[in-house]
Amino acid sequence: MNSQIEELKSFINNSNYTIVITGAGVSVSSGIGDVEHWHLPTVLQMSSEIILKTMPKRYYKAAWNSFLEPIFNNGATVTHRKLAELENEGKIQGIITTNIDHLHSIAGSKNVAEIQGSFAVNKCLKCGKQYNDINIWNKGKTPRCECGGVIGAFPIYAHVGQLRTEAEKARRWVELAELIIIIGANGSYYWSYGNHINKNAKIVQINPKKTYFDSKSILNIRKKSDEIFRLL
Ligand SMILES: [Zn+2]
Repeated sequence: MNSQIEELKSFINNSNYTIVITGAGVSVSSGIGDVEHWHLPTVLQMSSEIILKTMPKRYYKAAWNSFLEPIFNNGATVTHRKLAELENEGKIQGIITTNIDHLHSIAGSKNVAEIQGSFAVNKCLKCGKQYNDINIWNKGKTPRCECGGVIGAFPIYAHVGQLRTEAEKARRWVELAELIIIIGANGSYYWSYGNHINKNAKIVQINPKKTYFDSKSILNIRKKSDEIFRLL
């Protein structure tokens, strides 16, 4: 493993433009389950616009248990924090994520493309007013607009759609990338930016499991990302 970490370090140090792609695997250690660990009924409730509108209390409980409690009480992982540090040092130019937990931004990363939106992208489901602050979800109940309507996060009102402005950002970044580090991601939403990846970019993957990216990567580190970033 140490030689792989040395190799990763040297890739990072020799790259002028590094983009990181993250998926659910990066947030598991903060207590947010990936697909295999999800309690399905809870997740279905927290994904339902109908439940949000008609049973906001039940909605909040489900969202709290599956996402909000880990976000607000556990917060960013070692990986999120180390990525923010590397960006601050100029070694990472952007992070593309399918995660809706906003933990990269909470950890201090500035250039994040949340291509499926997040709990920080919200609007009133009645009048449409935008509330782009994740902290409205940390008040013990489903947030309400000044007009009285319930507020929903992008993944709910867009029905797990693509946030276009963020996907455009992701495409611009991968076109310029010399190095792409893919962490805990299984390739969902790859269609929205994959064709734009610079053909000369080196691809490195950190994931304990086999994924779509195995054949594309010149370095596959089969470990949980926190183990690697703790040592990086
Ligand atoms: Zn409203």
